[in-house]
Amino acid sequence: MPFHGLSARLQEIRERLDAARERGGHGQSVRIVAVTKTHGPEAVEAAVACGVDDVGENKVQEALGKMEAVTVPVRWHLIGHLQRNKAKAATRFAMVHGVDSPRLADALARAAGEAGCTLDVLVQVNVAEEASKSGVAMHEVPALADHLVALPSLRVRGAMTMAPYEAPEAELRRCFAGARAARATLQAAGHVHADELSMGMSGDYEVAVEEGATLVRLGTILFGARGE
Ligand SMILES: *Cc1c(COP(=O)(O)O)cnc(C)c1O
Repeated sequence: MPFHGLSARLQEIRERLDAARERGGHGQSVRIVAVTKTHGPEAVEAAVACGVDDVGENKVQEALGKMEAVTVPVRWHLIGHLQRNKAKAATRFAMVHGVDSPRLADALARAAGEAGCTLDVLVQVNVAEEASKSGVAMHEVPALADHLVALPSLRVRGAMTMAPYEAPEAELRRCFAGARAARATLQAAGHVHADELSMGMSGDYEVAVEEGATLVRLGTILFGARGE
């Protein structure tokens, strides 16, 4: 059986999530987004068999191929940087995590309008302002929040961030708290459905949950190293 031990790992992670949630005191519920990028459709099916409802992919083409192959119902999350020319395909996802510019928002809104759907999106914030990462800087969040108010085919569900890799805990916390503040800014701008915080990966998910994460995006810890 592929992904041997996945069920036991998920069990342990769920216990750790619960404990982190207790410690953090934010009172949120937390869902695991199983990041299946670079793995085949069997990774998606293995995760679903273990009770996971949400799957994350960072490349549109790769995800569309897996959508064709996977027959079980699953919520597909697009977690990576998205180019505007892929906006149409992005409407195939349950949630798009990487909205990081007014122009991308416009393209997604147009695509969702043409598809006759309302698309759930998250605003990606680059709290630490790392050059290697996508996302708007914290000071750009209010303007993007206001811009999104005028795009009714997008339903703003909250904020997403990636913390610096293997950063000290204090820096992780600062980054995750920044995403939480960005979500508050979205709510203050009138986005009443902005209740999600997508943050935390294999190396930092417990700190993220302590800081209020509602969606943790886990790849390596579930499926092993990707060999990228
Ligand atoms: C790959 C990826 C993840 C998962 O990372 P792991 O460290 O393997 O858990 C999470 N979020 C994004 C945006 C990713 O691209």
